Formats: sequence, C-alpha cells, structure tokens
Amino acid sequence: MERTVYSSEHRQFGESIAGFVADDLLPQLPRYRADGAVDRAAFARAGALGLLGLAIPSRFGGSQADDYRFHTVAIEQLAAATHGLSSTFTIHFDIATPYIVDLAVPSLAERVLPRLATGDAIAAIAMTEAGGGSDLAALTTRARRVDDGWVIDGSKTFITNGGIADVVVVAARTSDRGARGISLFVVEAPTAGFTPGPTLDKLGLHESNTAELFLDGVHVAEDALLGQVDGGFTHLMQRLPQERLSSAVANLAQARTVLGQALDHARTRSAFGTPIGSMQHNKFAFADLSARIEALSTFVDACIGAHVAGRLTTSDAARAKLLSAEVEHDVLDAAIQLSGGAGLMADNPIGQAWVDGRATRIWAGTSEVMREIIGRDLGL
Ligand SMILES: Cc1cc2nc3c(=O)[nH]c(=O)nc-3n(C[C@H](O)[C@H](O)[C@H](O)COP(=O)(O)OP(=O)(O)OC[C@H]3O[C@@H](n4cnc5c(N)ncnc54)[C@H](O)[C@@H]3O)c2cc1C
Repeated sequence: MERTVYSSEHRQFGESIAGFVADDLLPQLPRYRADGAVDRAAFARAGALGLLGLAIPSRFGGSQADDYRFHTVAIEQLAAATHGLSSTFTIHFDIATPYIVDLAVPSLAERVLPRLATGDAIAAIAMTEAGGGSDLAALTTRARRVDDGWVIDGSKTFITNGGIADVVVVAARTSDRGARGISLFVVEAPTAGFTPGPTLDKLGLHESNTAELFLDGVHVAEDALLGQVDGGFTHLMQRLPQERLSSAVANLAQARTVLGQALDHARTRSAFGTPIGSMQHNKFAFADLSARIEALSTFVDACIGAHVAGRLTTSDAARAKLLSAEVEHDVLDAAIQLSGGAGLMADNPIGQAWVDGRATRIWAGTSEVMREIIGRDLGL
C-alpha cells in the first residue's frame, strides 16, 4: 500500500541514510561485529549527515528537524539493515539525546549537545539494573546531594553503547518514595568512579555495544541533574512512548527486509520440481505475513502522525511496539523455516536476523509490559 506519511523531503533524507548504511556501515559490519561495537568514524559520518543532531537545536550545532518523521525515516533505513546498527544510532540521537535537549540546564546543554551533534561524543541511557528492568520504580542506584552537586553509587546493566559512551543519562534514586523518588543525571566519561564493564557477550546484535556500568562514588556537578529532583520517573514515562514508537518502526523495517529475503529464497529454491514458494502452504504463509505487515504499517504510520501532532498515547505506542515485535517474530520464524538448514548457518542473513530479532520482544519494555499497559488502558 502506498504510504502517505512522508514528504519528498523526508524521503530524500531517508535516501541519504540508506547511502550511509550501504557505503559506510555494511562494508564494515564484520569488523564491527568482531569488535563488539560500531567505531567512532561511523558516528562522525552520521554526525556530518545530520543524523545525530536531528533532535538538537541549531544553536547547539544540531540539524534540528522539528519533525519526528525525519527520525523515523532514518530509523527505517538503519533497521532495514540490522537491528544492531539501528539500536546503536537510535539510542544516541532518538532516545538519550532528547532528554538532554528537553531537560538540561544551559551550561550542561552547551557542554554536551554540540559534541553529540557531531558524533564527537556518543550517548547512552542507563535505566536497567541487574535487579530488574521492567519494574523501573524499584531501581536502587542512588544519588545523594553534596555541597557542590551529587554523588552517585550503583550499577546498571544491558546498556546499549555502554562501553563506548561519553555521555550517559542515568536514572538514580534520590529519595525512598518509590517511583516518585527517582531523578535523572548526565554522567560524562571519563569521571572518577565511573567504569564500564567489558562488552557483554550477547547471542546476537554483536555490532551493537552492550555493557554494564559501575558507578562508585561518582561525583557530578549540580548542572548534571536533568529536570526535576524526584521527577525522573515522570520524565521517563513522558518519553517512553517515543522510544516504543521508534522500536515499532525498526521492527517493521526489519520484518519487511526479512520477508523480502525469504521471498527471494522461496522463488528460487525448488523441491519436488517446483519453487517452494508456490506450494500452497508456503504461499499462504507469505500471504498472511504480507497482509499483517501492511496492516501494521498503516497503524504505525498513524502513530507516527499522531506523535508529530503531539497526540500519541502511551497505550497506542505500546500497541505498536507489541504488535510489531510479534509480527517480526512470526516473519523471522517463517523465514528461517523456509530457509531449511541453510537458515541455521551463522553466515546466513536470515539466521543472523532471527537471532538478533529475538531482543525486540524484550528490550524497550517487554511484550508482557506492553500488554499490561494496554490492559490498563482497557480498564482492566
Ligand atoms: C540488547 C539489549 C539492549 C538493551 N539496552 C538497554 C539500554 O540501552 N538501556 C537500558 O536501560 N536498558 C536496556 N536494556 C534492558 C531492557 O530494557 C530490559 O532487559 C527489559 O526492560 C526487561 O528487563 P529485565 O531484563 O530486567 O527483565 P525482567 O524485568 O526481570 O523481566 C523478566 C520477565 O518477567 C516478565 N515480567 C515482568 N513484569 C511483568 C508483569 N508485570 N507482568 C507479566 N510479566 C512480567 C517480563 O516480561 C519478562 O518476560 C537492553 C536489553 C537488551 C537485551
């Protein structure tokens, strides 16, 4: 179905990101995977293209899109390649940076935003702890006030870009009032007591760096506080719908890629004298998946439009994230089944996508948490 959510300007920007993916990122993918991270040269190139500064006002050197569709058209191109590439850059420009743009005091904004726009500094956001990610209100990393700022103690885990980040948005407890006792801080590396752990050895997504972060008496200045003291949970809740929409956009883009790869295989691979795609069982499986992708795409585009208009609800963002992750999962499962044994080989793109894609029902809020949110919206 023809999409109407993007103008020619959005599409043009999307094409520049597609060129970046094809020319700069994909040729280096084996190296990124071996290194467990995308390199700084790729961030610098993304900065030069205006990708990293989309959320950043021009007075801080950003490309200041003022239209969320420039984010989503870029995310589609990154995620059409791999979830690992997409998560690396999306965490930086679409998720962590907006907290600083919206909530930083001028001295902090002036210090970090120009470097985030160029890619000179890499961003991460650290909410999850070993004790739990779904129940954010239970986090135990603690920040205590001192004369000239704050001292933070605790640890975080599963942090995307954690091992390579220079600017980390950290959620920490500032009082014992549960969800109403959490505040957000920016920790800049290097800072004494702030240590990333070694790159975590994930099953897939190897080009996307994931690490623990240890905070041992980390002193930050007064201006490191983002927004209100004890207001961090509210700041997070206000921004999580965007993170979930961005996740949905990525899931859908990757599902389309894998469906295309599976179709190519099903058209060319024969068994019993006929292409496997023309066998009724397989043809019907493709038809179902294609219909679900098109329907989902209409819903996700409507969510993008609602977000641009400032009307995206928490529950619709949860619906988009839930459905996209489940549809992507079904596409991946069908694609690997249709690939036969070849799909299980480590160098097969469908096999790699299958391993990588498993994260989408877990990160950015699990499918169960999305169902909880939707259930609450239904008054249950
Ligand atoms: C590759 C990767 C990158 C990540 N990047 C980041 C990052 O950059 N920053 C960050 O802060 N975090 C990040 N995360 C963490 C991610 O957000 C968490 O893993 C996720 O929120 C789930 O938390 P958990 O792993 O602690 O699981 P848990 O919260 O322990 O959940 C375990 C299981 O219990 C279920 N469960 C929990 N609550 C309920 C409920 N109310 N009803 C039903 N079932 C429930 C969950 O759905 C899940 O199935 C990343 C994770 C991965 C895998």
